[in-house]
Amino acid sequence: MTKQKVTLFWFRRDLRLEDNTGLFHALQSDFPVVPLFIFDNDILEHLPKNDARVTFIYDSLEKINSELHKLDSSILIKKGKTKDVWKSLIEEFDIQYVFFNKDYEPFAIARDTAISSILKENNIKSLSFKDHVIFEEKEITKADGSPYTVYTPYKNKWLEKYKLSGPVSEYDTVKLQSNFAKHSFKFPQLSEIGFERSSIKVQPHNLTQIGNYKETRDFPALDSTSYLSPHLRFGTVSIRKLVNWADRKNQTFLSELIWREFFIQILFSFPKCVNHNFKSNYDGIQWRNNEEDFKRWCSGTTGYPMVDAGMRQLNETGYMHNRVRMVVASFLCKHLLINWQWGEAYFAQKLLDFELASNVGNWQWAAGTGCDAAPYFRVFNPEIQQQKFDSKGEYIRKWIPEFDLGYNEPMIDHAFARDRAIETYKKGIVK
Ligand code: FAD
Repeated sequence: MTKQKVTLFWFRRDLRLEDNTGLFHALQSDFPVVPLFIFDNDILEHLPKNDARVTFIYDSLEKINSELHKLDSSILIKKGKTKDVWKSLIEEFDIQYVFFNKDYEPFAIARDTAISSILKENNIKSLSFKDHVIFEEKEITKADGSPYTVYTPYKNKWLEKYKLSGPVSEYDTVKLQSNFAKHSFKFPQLSEIGFERSSIKVQPHNLTQIGNYKETRDFPALDSTSYLSPHLRFGTVSIRKLVNWADRKNQTFLSELIWREFFIQILFSFPKCVNHNFKSNYDGIQWRNNEEDFKRWCSGTTGYPMVDAGMRQLNETGYMHNRVRMVVASFLCKHLLINWQWGEAYFAQKLLDFELASNVGNWQWAAGTGCDAAPYFRVFNPEIQQQKFDSKGEYIRKWIPEFDLGYNEPMIDHAFARDRAIETYKKGIVK
């Protein structure tokens, strides 16, 4: 029997049908489009069975599938090692084209290069698109073509380029939706993928308070940030729509979206910073890396309420407010002298919004080892941070119910830890 000629659209971190660049182009490819998602065993085998991000991905795919049902179509879900899955897809379908959106993480670039060459060996054309960011790879560079390593000039260039072209165009996939293949693939149960539903849920994003973002964003008890981060991570919202909206509503908020792109371009240009200090002259820092101290930090029992509340929020919800992320990260690296890579790995396990570029970039910022980082002698005082940003103790009481019963003594004296950190950094940094 002859197989139907099809185009495959491979969903990855762009889990939406609307304003999706690669999908928009796939739907114009002259062949019916089979939408595909692969649960990649190489990633899944490192995750707990009730990983909250897998639940979120699963629910987002189910939503896409029910939208496709209305068009007499459906999504094809596969599970396995990505290369093996592609080899079997090549047998199963007469694939004419494969479309996907680019992912700029080093692991993803290596995977996509390998898959594109398998496809090429089989005379299948693969096409990849920019969708995850407004400006990618080498679009924002210094005059000599080298990447920016300092945020403010990067942001200025980014804004200059954005304002020059006006609002970025969005991709109207709706008018093309009759081009989906009319297939009814079985949508698997979560258990068939080897996972269980997590009790931790991704919050819907909330843009109602963005008007006061500049004034309120640093106060964790106000709950006034957007909760967009997991949605941007998995592409359940379009960055183009969001940036166009932010440009009209609030420039401070837009600047935060530019931080995200800054770190994505840093990781793209300097992939070694995943597991090396961006500033290699900081390699000589003698971290203490004490395991008991690390456990107290992870469990939120350091005796510093702001640190403990943050870690408990993370452990219970998969989220932590940005101001508190900065406080806990500084505490781990400077007060406890634990290598930022330990903290980065812990956040990577727990955060619903875990994104390699932002996580590594912000951790290295806090440790002082990153590009455009906090200077090494800047050591946050967790008590002063608490007085400034949670003066009534509302955030702290929310996450530490026993707070008023007489709280634990701090595990380390601030003045002592501060001096020790500055001394250790001074000794370790090669001038
Ligand atoms: P909002 O304040 O509403 O910001 C809107 C969006 O802007 C965010 O969703 C995010 O995409 C972007 N943004 C805001 N601040 C930053 C920033 N400092 N760096 C990069 N992008 C930013 N963010 C992640 O998405 N994934 C991570 O793994 C991550 N790890 C972090 C680790 C540390 C140590 C620190 C200090 C920050 C980290 N951040 C990370 C950045 C920031 O804390 C979160 O993006 C933010 O708290 C998410 O909440 P929100 O969507 O309500 O933020």
